[in-house]
Amino acid sequence: MDLTHELETAKTIARMAASICQNIQDELIVTEKSGHEPVTIADYASQALILSALANNFEDDAVLAEEHSEEYELLLSDPQRQLVARYVEDALGGYVFAEDISAYLDFGRKHEAERLWVVDPIDGTKGFVAQRHYCVAIGLLIAGEPVLGVLASPGFYSDEADPPEDLGLLTYAVRGGGAYQEALYGGERELIHVSAANDPQRAIVLASFEGKHTDIDRIRRTEAALGRGPDAPIKRLDSQDKHAMIANGMGDIYLRMVPDPSYQEKLWDHAAGYAIVTEAGGQVTDLLGQPLDFTAGTTFARNRGVLVTNGTLHAATLDAIRQAMDE
Ligand code: AMP
Ligand code: MG
Repeated sequence: MDLTHELETAKTIARMAASICQNIQDELIVTEKSGHEPVTIADYASQALILSALANNFEDDAVLAEEHSEEYELLLSDPQRQLVARYVEDALGGYVFAEDISAYLDFGRKHEAERLWVVDPIDGTKGFVAQRHYCVAIGLLIAGEPVLGVLASPGFYSDEADPPEDLGLLTYAVRGGGAYQEALYGGERELIHVSAANDPQRAIVLASFEGKHTDIDRIRRTEAALGRGPDAPIKRLDSQDKHAMIANGMGDIYLRMVPDPSYQEKLWDHAAGYAIVTEAGGQVTDLLGQPLDFTAGTTFARNRGVLVTNGTLHAATLDAIRQAMDE
């Protein structure tokens, strides 16, 4: 299966969308959508741009994306909608009217097709607002299998001790073609692979920055069951930058354990990252070791939580999760 056009398109629009997000960060307008989640004009501009490119290149495909035109029209004022249109217009280099944005936002929605693009225009909106980690995430499922992933991460190196000049990173993979990273706005691509870490004590554990997304007590119990002491390294950061870090060996175990037992993980928070991590040699399951079921709708209705590892540490981590549950 040749997905060269799909990958090149996704890389280009992910970069353009990330650039819009960086520009908007200076004049950020935040509002609250359903579920008390924040949404910004950048979420809408990024999604409209991405979906306009998908519409132009892959008109028969279906799309599952985080934002909807209903909320865009309900939550944003006229001047805010004009602003969204202006950002998309600047990126596309043609006229875009505020009304066009609604059509772009909903492209491919409620459409059934074997090919489903899964898009998070800003993954980690809370991180974006607080100027931490966030990324633009574009995944492609074919018959329910993630076959392509692109993550554009403007703040990827932002909390490293000695960061490179360009803080951003583009990470991507196509099934069977290897996983790669390159500087966000261009540079040599570099083949990436997960770490070979096999000592749980020294492994770098990753978890979400957000307290509401992170059952830290359960993570601590799991770490203890893995034999990790209090000084074992753990990093908290937003977005699928965590998947990118597992894929390139900067992290070894990502525990997505959320406090709300009824919470169902969303497809757009995992599809792109899954494609990249698995292509880089890593492993992804839910917390019980079940494969993630990308066919259950908008959420992983049949899975609970997510475990992403370098593969080497997967079985031991699943054992520890089981032990911690019995306590
Ligand atoms: P992260 O930055 O890794 O915490 O992931 C960000 C994603 O968490 C967002 O895109 C949301 O879809 C998702 N999210 C929102 N609310 C919750 C919640 N209560 N528990 C877990 N994840 C959530
Ligand atoms: Mg999001």
